[in-house]
Amino acid sequence: KSRNYDAIVIGAGAAGMMCASTAGQRGRSVLLIDHANEAGKKILISGGGRCNFTNLHTSPERFISANPHFAKSALRRYRPEDFVELVERHHIAWHEKTLGQLFCDGSAKQIVAMLLHECAKGHVELGFGRQVSKLEHADGVYRVSYGNEMVTAPALVIATGGPSIPKMGATGFAYDIARKFGLAVVDPRPALVPLTLGSDEALFKSLSGVATDVVARCGKVEFREAALFTHRGLSGPAILQISSYWKQGEEIGIDFLPPGSARLVDAKRSHPRSALRSVLAHALPARLAEALDERIGLSGELANSPDRVLEGIQRQLSDWRFRPNGTEGFAKAEVTAGGISTDELSSQTMQAKNVRGLYAIGEAVDVTGWLGGYNFQWAWASGTAAGIAL
Ligand code: FAD
Repeated sequence: KSRNYDAIVIGAGAAGMMCASTAGQRGRSVLLIDHANEAGKKILISGGGRCNFTNLHTSPERFISANPHFAKSALRRYRPEDFVELVERHHIAWHEKTLGQLFCDGSAKQIVAMLLHECAKGHVELGFGRQVSKLEHADGVYRVSYGNEMVTAPALVIATGGPSIPKMGATGFAYDIARKFGLAVVDPRPALVPLTLGSDEALFKSLSGVATDVVARCGKVEFREAALFTHRGLSGPAILQISSYWKQGEEIGIDFLPPGSARLVDAKRSHPRSALRSVLAHALPARLAEALDERIGLSGELANSPDRVLEGIQRQLSDWRFRPNGTEGFAKAEVTAGGISTDELSSQTMQAKNVRGLYAIGEAVDVTGWLGGYNFQWAWASGTAAGIAL
């Protein structure tokens, strides 16, 4: 004998809980299932345990998708202020850290508890710690076998996220379901991920642990934030942001002397007897200044170099080219770019255009936010859009 619901949501992460609680509170009978034995594991580890739950500067341009217009509707209808209002209703203290990023003062556990509380308010049934073994769709009904139960509903929501950080239980399940129902999937790739450098960049690997403020560029996109050298390559917020835009084989440009930093021609006028290394050491961490100076190989005092040579070096330092040989992969990626193609979904409801009753939300969909709370905002907004439609 099977139990019947109005909707079954698979994946009790950020988007799934938001969707289930919204639909439940609107009177739908909802079952929320997850193969993990607890909800929201990624929320718990997010933002260093404090969950960067939204960003005040949310706007569609801060999301990457094959269709940059797709996210607009859901983001417009569920805003950062709406989530802040929910957080405040639950008396969770929060603060803005930097760049519009909102974090809990206490712990990410509060966000998970809040979402579970909202689910309980909507009488959402929970079924955790059991695998989905079979999924069928016939005569307008979805039949899901999980554990040793069979449940049915006219609506099924895919909220199982992307495959980044498999050791947290992340899987490519969303894509398997999508393909089963004939929905196209945009090639998933690791995003918000450290980039790796080959042996020709060995000099920079020796800088492991050095961080500096840079402008990182890839094509027309640029981010001014910190970059960090690692033993495998490059990381830090500026690099993570750029990684979401980077494709294998492309170069990235790093401006080590961003606007407001040292100008060599000015330094020549004010300190003509200085060497390049000491000027760089004023603007940059000492080990980095040394490594760049070695690569440039300008000997002697600045006064001995013509302005045109110094201008050339300035340009080189402002657009230092790296050709990463890869990324640290899904094991280290904060999110997955790509996913279920937005062409397949209604931007109003997240329902598949050609498969009645099938919905996809959150990271499973080909919408990827910048670093800084944008990915959760997408999870809340897309989850709410689907929850209302159910
Ligand atoms: P998830 O939250 O990943 O939820 C998916 C759920 O589906 C999980 O509970 C999983 O167990 C379940 N599931 C998976 N496969 C199956 C299956 N086969 N059967 C049943 N259930 C399944 N974003 C921010 O905005 N701010 C941050 O501070 C932030 N920090 C992060 C830190 C780290 C270390 C990581 C890895 C990510 C971070 N992110 C952050 C990204 C953010 O966590 C995700 O974008 C967001 O969780 C996506 O929500 P989701 O509900 O779509 O998927």
